[in-house]
Amino acid sequence: MLEIKGAIDISLVDWDGKVCTVLFLPNCNFRCPFCQNSSLVLHPEKEETIPWKRIEAYLSGNKSWIEGVCITGGEPTLSEELLSLCVKLKEMKLAVKIDTNGTNPEMIEQLINKNLVDYVALDIKAPFTLEKYSRVTGINMEKLMEKVKQTVKLIMNSAIDYEFRTTIVPTLHKPSDIENICKEIIGCKKYVIQRFRAENTIDPAYSKLKPFSDQEVNEFLKTAKKLVSNVTVR
Ligand code: SF4
Repeated sequence: MLEIKGAIDISLVDWDGKVCTVLFLPNCNFRCPFCQNSSLVLHPEKEETIPWKRIEAYLSGNKSWIEGVCITGGEPTLSEELLSLCVKLKEMKLAVKIDTNGTNPEMIEQLINKNLVDYVALDIKAPFTLEKYSRVTGINMEKLMEKVKQTVKLIMNSAIDYEFRTTIVPTLHKPSDIENICKEIIGCKKYVIQRFRAENTIDPAYSKLKPFSDQEVNEFLKTAKKLVSNVTVR
């Protein structure tokens, strides 16, 4: 059964340059301590499922100005219904963006090959060392880090539009981490450094952290720009 656990009717910030609707799918295989979608990750069964018919009616009634749908979560590629959801959206002539943590390259490949996705936003949480990636994602990444790397390669070698992005979190990231991430994605189309917001985090201790100052964020930006040409801060 298709489980949509949340929706934002109109967003101007979830897909650069597009007016989109955002749909939230449940569950995640990471436990990033700074995650702000804790209910979708930890106890999605407590969230009400929005019937597809209601979403479909909204999208049909507003299709003159909604350009696309951003599917996020949680981790949407864990959902068995993701492919069929994308088919439904494509039948409605809507563009589709997927937000992913990159652990399911097989699903991303299928979506690309079947022309069911127009944009992929892939989180690169940390430099690709087991210790660092595990710390930032809150799980042992032994089995999954290669999957993320595989998704990075897959996307860079495809014709799809995409961005890589990293949320920078005090206590977890230093500019040298961004440098090490950027070394892995030299030549990518777009890299986004995302500011961390200290609200409703999975680990309550992270809600008390003071986010990086503008000056500190600028240091991260300058570091990334030495290696990647198209970098922005969000
Ligand atoms: S921030 Fe981490 S735990 Fe939260 S949804 Fe994204 S990948 Fe999952």
